Amino acid sequence: MSDKITELVKIDRLAKVCTRCNLCNARTRVVFGAGNVNCYVMIVGEAPGDEEDQSGLPFVGRSGQKLNEVLAVLGYPREHLFITNAIKCRPPNNTKPSAAEIALCNPYLMDQIRVIQPKVIIALGGSAFQAVTGTGGKITQIRGRWLQTKGGVLVMPTFHPAHVLRNNTPETNATFLTDFTNAFKRAYNM
Ligand code: URA
Repeated sequence: MSDKITELVKIDRLAKVCTRCNLCNARTRVVFGAGNVNCYVMIVGEAPGDEEDQSGLPFVGRSGQKLNEVLAVLGYPREHLFITNAIKCRPPNNTKPSAAEIALCNPYLMDQIRVIQPKVIIALGGSAFQAVTGTGGKITQIRGRWLQTKGGVLVMPTFHPAHVLRNNTPETNATFLTDFTNAFKRAYNM
Protein backbone atom coordinates (compact mmCIF):
# COMPACT_ATOMS: atom_id res chain seq x y z
CA MET A 1 0.00 0.00 0.00
CA SER A 2 1.23 3.51 -0.75
CA ASP A 3 2.09 5.78 2.17
CA LYS A 4 -0.85 8.02 1.27
CA ILE A 5 -3.31 5.14 1.38
CA THR A 6 -1.89 3.88 4.68
CA GLU A 7 -2.31 7.36 6.20
CA LEU A 8 -5.80 7.82 4.79
CA VAL A 9 -6.90 4.42 6.08
CA LYS A 10 -5.82 5.54 9.58
CA ILE A 11 -7.84 8.77 9.31
CA ASP A 12 -10.81 6.87 7.89
CA ARG A 13 -10.75 4.44 10.85
CA LEU A 14 -10.94 7.37 13.27
CA ALA A 15 -13.72 9.09 11.30
CA LYS A 16 -15.79 5.87 11.20
CA VAL A 17 -16.12 5.82 14.99
CA CYS A 18 -16.26 9.60 15.46
CA THR A 19 -18.66 10.97 18.07
CA ARG A 20 -17.43 14.58 18.11
CA CYS A 21 -20.84 15.98 17.20
CA ASN A 22 -24.47 14.89 17.35
CA LEU A 23 -24.57 13.94 13.68
CA CYS A 24 -23.10 10.58 14.70
CA ASN A 25 -26.46 9.64 16.26
CA ALA A 26 -28.43 9.72 13.03
CA ARG A 27 -25.88 8.63 10.45
CA THR A 28 -26.03 5.31 8.63
CA ARG A 29 -22.47 5.59 7.35
CA VAL A 30 -19.60 8.02 7.62
CA VAL A 31 -18.88 9.32 4.12
CA PHE A 32 -15.12 9.74 4.23
CA GLY A 33 -14.49 10.47 0.56
CA ALA A 34 -13.36 8.51 -2.47
CA GLY A 35 -11.11 8.68 -5.48
CA ASN A 36 -7.52 8.97 -6.58
CA VAL A 37 -5.11 9.74 -3.75
CA ASN A 38 -2.58 11.03 -6.30
CA CYS A 39 -5.07 13.45 -7.82
CA TYR A 40 -4.24 16.96 -9.04
CA VAL A 41 -7.74 18.18 -8.22
CA MET A 42 -9.63 17.54 -5.00
CA ILE A 43 -13.30 18.40 -4.75
CA VAL A 44 -14.87 19.38 -1.44
CA GLY A 45 -18.65 19.50 -1.12
CA GLU A 46 -20.90 20.34 1.79
CA ALA A 47 -22.27 17.21 3.47
CA PRO A 48 -23.57 13.76 2.59
CA GLY A 49 -27.22 13.56 1.59
CA ASP A 50 -29.52 10.58 1.92
CA GLU A 51 -28.05 8.52 -0.91
CA GLU A 52 -24.50 9.20 0.26
CA ASP A 53 -25.45 8.26 3.84
CA GLN A 54 -26.86 4.95 2.56
CA SER A 55 -24.00 4.12 0.19
CA GLY A 56 -21.06 5.60 2.11
CA LEU A 57 -19.89 7.33 -1.09
CA PRO A 58 -19.76 11.07 -1.85
CA PHE A 59 -21.86 12.74 -4.53
CA VAL A 60 -23.89 9.79 -5.77
CA GLY A 61 -27.25 11.63 -5.83
CA ARG A 62 -28.54 14.41 -8.09
CA SER A 63 -25.73 16.80 -7.17
CA GLY A 64 -23.32 14.02 -8.07
CA GLN A 65 -24.90 13.71 -11.51
CA LYS A 66 -24.43 17.43 -12.05
CA LEU A 67 -20.81 17.08 -10.98
CA ASN A 68 -20.33 14.15 -13.38
CA GLU A 69 -21.84 16.25 -16.17
CA VAL A 70 -19.33 19.07 -15.79
CA LEU A 71 -16.45 16.61 -15.44
CA ALA A 72 -17.58 14.85 -18.63
CA VAL A 73 -17.49 18.18 -20.52
CA LEU A 74 -13.91 18.69 -19.31
CA GLY A 75 -12.96 15.09 -20.09
CA TYR A 76 -11.91 14.15 -16.57
CA PRO A 77 -13.84 11.21 -15.12
CA ARG A 78 -14.27 11.40 -11.38
CA GLU A 79 -11.80 8.53 -10.92
CA HIS A 80 -9.04 11.12 -11.60
CA LEU A 81 -10.09 13.17 -8.58
CA PHE A 82 -10.52 12.78 -4.86
CA ILE A 83 -14.00 13.83 -3.75
CA THR A 84 -15.04 14.53 -0.18
CA ASN A 85 -17.15 16.89 1.92
CA ALA A 86 -16.73 19.55 4.59
CA ILE A 87 -18.50 17.23 7.02
CA LYS A 88 -18.54 13.46 6.85
CA CYS A 89 -21.96 12.65 8.31
CA ARG A 90 -25.39 13.48 6.97
CA PRO A 91 -27.26 16.28 8.75
CA PRO A 92 -30.82 15.01 9.37
CA ASN A 93 -33.33 16.53 6.90
CA ASN A 94 -30.38 17.72 4.79
CA THR A 95 -30.04 20.93 6.78
CA LYS A 96 -26.98 23.11 6.21
CA PRO A 97 -24.13 22.09 8.53
CA SER A 98 -23.60 24.45 11.44
CA ALA A 99 -20.33 26.32 11.95
CA ALA A 100 -19.70 24.09 15.00
CA GLU A 101 -20.24 20.89 12.99
CA ILE A 102 -17.87 22.14 10.28
CA ALA A 103 -15.25 23.05 12.90
CA LEU A 104 -15.52 19.72 14.76
CA CYS A 105 -15.18 17.74 11.53
CA ASN A 106 -12.44 19.96 10.11
CA PRO A 107 -9.42 17.97 11.38
CA TYR A 108 -10.47 15.03 9.16
CA LEU A 109 -10.63 17.27 6.08
CA MET A 110 -7.35 19.02 6.92
CA ASP A 111 -5.66 15.65 7.36
CA GLN A 112 -7.03 14.47 4.01
CA ILE A 113 -5.65 17.58 2.30
CA ARG A 114 -2.28 17.23 4.07
CA VAL A 115 -1.92 13.61 2.96
CA ILE A 116 -3.27 13.96 -0.60
CA GLN A 117 -1.58 17.30 -1.37
CA PRO A 118 -3.71 18.18 -4.40
CA LYS A 119 -2.57 21.02 -6.64
CA VAL A 120 -6.02 22.59 -6.57
CA ILE A 121 -9.12 22.25 -4.39
CA ILE A 122 -12.51 23.08 -5.86
CA ALA A 123 -14.76 24.17 -2.97
CA LEU A 124 -18.42 23.64 -3.80
CA GLY A 125 -20.53 26.21 -1.95
CA GLY A 126 -20.14 28.27 1.19
CA SER A 127 -19.74 25.42 3.70
CA ALA A 128 -16.92 23.86 1.68
CA PHE A 129 -15.28 27.26 1.27
CA GLN A 130 -15.49 27.91 5.01
CA ALA A 131 -14.09 24.45 5.77
CA VAL A 132 -11.06 24.68 3.48
CA THR A 133 -10.07 28.32 4.04
CA GLY A 134 -11.36 28.95 7.57
CA THR A 135 -13.13 32.10 6.38
CA GLY A 136 -16.74 32.84 5.60
CA GLY A 137 -18.48 34.82 2.91
CA LYS A 138 -21.17 34.70 0.27
CA ILE A 139 -20.30 32.20 -2.42
CA THR A 140 -21.91 34.42 -5.09
CA GLN A 141 -19.31 37.09 -4.22
CA ILE A 142 -16.31 34.85 -3.60
CA ARG A 143 -16.61 32.31 -6.43
CA GLY A 144 -14.20 32.29 -9.32
CA ARG A 145 -11.32 33.91 -7.41
CA TRP A 146 -8.20 32.05 -6.39
CA LEU A 147 -7.57 31.69 -2.67
CA GLN A 148 -5.45 29.39 -0.54
CA THR A 149 -5.84 27.03 2.39
CA LYS A 150 -3.76 27.83 5.48
CA GLY A 151 -1.33 25.18 4.22
CA GLY A 152 -0.95 27.00 0.89
CA VAL A 153 -3.05 24.78 -1.41
CA LEU A 154 -4.86 26.73 -4.13
CA VAL A 155 -8.63 26.92 -3.75
CA MET A 156 -11.19 27.72 -6.44
CA PRO A 157 -14.57 28.40 -4.81
CA THR A 158 -17.64 27.87 -6.94
CA PHE A 159 -21.34 27.13 -6.60
CA HIS A 160 -22.58 23.93 -5.05
CA PRO A 161 -24.11 21.70 -7.79
CA ALA A 162 -27.44 21.79 -5.89
CA HIS A 163 -27.47 25.58 -6.39
CA VAL A 164 -26.79 25.11 -10.11
CA LEU A 165 -29.66 22.59 -10.31
CA ARG A 166 -32.02 24.96 -8.49
CA ASN A 167 -31.05 28.06 -10.53
CA ASN A 168 -30.86 26.20 -13.77
CA THR A 169 -30.12 29.24 -15.93
CA PRO A 170 -27.62 29.28 -18.81
CA GLU A 171 -25.59 31.90 -16.87
CA THR A 172 -25.28 29.79 -13.72
CA ASN A 173 -24.35 26.71 -15.72
CA ALA A 174 -21.77 28.68 -17.74
CA THR A 175 -20.24 30.18 -14.58
CA PHE A 176 -20.01 26.76 -12.95
CA LEU A 177 -18.26 25.37 -16.04
CA THR A 178 -15.89 28.36 -16.24
CA ASP A 179 -14.80 27.92 -12.60
CA PHE A 180 -14.15 24.21 -13.16
CA THR A 181 -12.29 24.92 -16.41
CA ASN A 182 -10.03 27.45 -14.70
CA ALA A 183 -9.35 25.09 -11.81
CA PHE A 184 -8.40 22.20 -14.11
CA LYS A 185 -6.25 24.45 -16.33
CA ARG A 186 -4.28 25.61 -13.32
CA ALA A 187 -3.94 22.12 -11.83
CA TYR A 188 -2.77 20.56 -15.09
CA ASN A 189 -0.69 23.59 -16.20
CA MET A 190 -2.68 24.13 -19.38
N1 URA B 1 -23.62 14.87 -1.86
C1 URA B 1 -22.43 15.03 -1.26
O1 URA B 1 -21.67 14.06 -1.08
N2 URA B 1 -22.09 16.26 -0.88
C2 URA B 1 -22.86 17.31 -1.06
O2 URA B 1 -22.45 18.42 -0.72
C3 URA B 1 -24.12 17.11 -1.68
C4 URA B 1 -24.47 15.87 -2.06
